[in-house]
Amino acid sequence: MLETKLSKVLGTTKKHLTILNGLGITTVRDLLEYFPRTYTDERECVSVSEVKLDQVNVIKGKLTALNSRKSRGGMIIMEGIVSDGTGSVPVVWFNQKYLSQILRKGADYYFSGKLKYDNGRSIFKSPKVEAVSKNMLHVGRIVPVYHGTEGLNSTWLRGKINSVLGYAELFEDELPGWIRKELGLISIDKAIADIHFPSSQKDLKAARKRLAFEEIFGLQLKSIKRKKAWQKGAKGLSVARDDDAMKSLVDGLPFSLTGAQRRTLIEILKDMSGELPMLRLVQGDVGSGKTIVAVLAALNVVKAGYQVAFMVPTEVLAKQHYSKLKELFDGFGISVEILLGGVGDKKILHKALSKGEIDIVVGTHALIQEGVEFKKLGLAIVDEQHRFGVEQRKKLAANGTPHLLSMTATPIPRTLAMILYGDLDISLIDEVPSGRKPVVTRLVLEKKRNDAYKWIYDKVKEGDQVYVICPLVEDSDKLEEVKSVTAEFERLSKGAFKGLKIGLLHGRMSSQEKQDVMDDFKAGKIEVLVSTSVIEVGIDVPNATIMMIEGAERFGLSQLHQFRGRVGRGDKQSYCFLMPSKYTPEGMARLSALERTHSGFDLAEVDLQMRGPGEIYGVRQSGIPDLKIASFGDQELVRTAKEMAERYLADK
Ligand code: ADP
Ligand code: MG
Repeated sequence: MLETKLSKVLGTTKKHLTILNGLGITTVRDLLEYFPRTYTDERECVSVSEVKLDQVNVIKGKLTALNSRKSRGGMIIMEGIVSDGTGSVPVVWFNQKYLSQILRKGADYYFSGKLKYDNGRSIFKSPKVEAVSKNMLHVGRIVPVYHGTEGLNSTWLRGKINSVLGYAELFEDELPGWIRKELGLISIDKAIADIHFPSSQKDLKAARKRLAFEEIFGLQLKSIKRKKAWQKGAKGLSVARDDDAMKSLVDGLPFSLTGAQRRTLIEILKDMSGELPMLRLVQGDVGSGKTIVAVLAALNVVKAGYQVAFMVPTEVLAKQHYSKLKELFDGFGISVEILLGGVGDKKILHKALSKGEIDIVVGTHALIQEGVEFKKLGLAIVDEQHRFGVEQRKKLAANGTPHLLSMTATPIPRTLAMILYGDLDISLIDEVPSGRKPVVTRLVLEKKRNDAYKWIYDKVKEGDQVYVICPLVEDSDKLEEVKSVTAEFERLSKGAFKGLKIGLLHGRMSSQEKQDVMDDFKAGKIEVLVSTSVIEVGIDVPNATIMMIEGAERFGLSQLHQFRGRVGRGDKQSYCFLMPSKYTPEGMARLSALERTHSGFDLAEVDLQMRGPGEIYGVRQSGIPDLKIASFGDQELVRTAKEMAERYLADK
């Protein structure tokens, strides 16, 4: 049985069993599912005459001499001579007692290790050694390498896993036969055996392919099931297209929609006219114009007689959206209100919402607090959705089964999005409005800092506005952050930017104070805004053309890209200056990627390659397990797994 306890079959000590336990390994199945971290191909032998100094050499030869002695310090030293017909070479091991029980003079072995020059001669120092046989484990084959841990190394694991390998045939195939056949996947029992001890690279590849597919397929199945559960029994509120209303709103805009905006809108309208509630994620780079798309969707919903809730992560953003929506819907006879947290009497608003007197409400988390009820919520919009948890999204949508429109500027690579948000359909706004010039991005080294300040100063004198972002503070200590941003504010006020109108923004200010600062910045009363990363999300001030980021290497690429997206919103040329506070190779690599790359999606790919998904998106928190074999970057695999999961469930 695969569930057999290792204590029954493994012939090992209690101590080792306890360590295994710590790795979550207690049964035969667990041990067999502990896959190698990597492999070394040690099949290629060289003859003794060909061995090279300071390199790993694998040789096959006879131990023609062997003896052991004790050093003066009490260390056991085993020395021997290996010969293979082309020559002989000395070999030595230190303090490896067990070898005296394994090695026999005159027998044939594989040796794998480095040849060193020592005391006037070349000598094999402590090579791995294994008797020549048909079933080599540690040398002379493709050798699996496992993550060891304190008191338990890869070699030990290799031996133990090999001892239970016979159980592999008990694994039962959970993949339907037609999928295996169509994709040419090997059976699970063979895959498990070969992932540990493949006899060729081809076998290894086939094993990996099978296991990686199964991993992603399982995740996809789960998320599609989640989606089906949400839609099950839910009667979608069918919303008709109101082309006239949309046309008159669009006609009033100072621009025309981009192709990507149109396409996304059409996808949304199609979803909302259907039988099922929409579950759609709109991904669009900063500045790609997601808001107007949401506004047009909202217009249709209100025209069809339903209400709309528009949830955003910060009060500053709520107010910005609120005033924009008010302006856009002016003359449409649509009532727009704002709902924020904090003190104050919200009863009147709550009542008006529940009676259906408010058509569109913009707000923060306050929208999902107790007491908020809608008469007939038709559309829930979640802006910057990555700032909210799954539960919060669900809560907003718990008012009946409204259509759900999520929006994000975090350019998650498509493959990862499919897994993280597999239950959402995805629209991509992959086009920035024309006329926008890419933001010129430059790394500023310490010795050039003063030149940069001077240049910026002159620009401000010509009428441009500037953001200065201060470094992240370790442990995200709010108080420290306030201190550091205040210090920077003072430094600049007295130094490089003396005489300019400088403002300060940080998370410890009241929302009224923050709003006042933003209003002043928008109105041009503040020329330079020194801020912590609170500025990150959604702020739209087209006249701000310069972004200066201090301690830039401390931020992730995606976040830096978000900051950069705050400028370049009008038709003026914009600039982003990256000021590192430390010069690490890894940090510099990231910053120079930002200099070169302007698409958030390309950057996200770079980030994914450099840092892995866990770091960037908090994958663990979002409930996605670490992948053992598959990679999120494998687009082909993710796509195929999704397609197969859909076909599989369609039959059910
Ligand atoms: P984001 O996708 O980052 O939320 P916004 O919706 O805030 O972007 O839009 C950024 C700016 O671009 C806004 O000032 C908006 O009015 C403007 N905008 C949106 N669509 C277009 C377009 N098609 N052409 C020109 N400007 C546009
Ligand atoms: Mg936005």
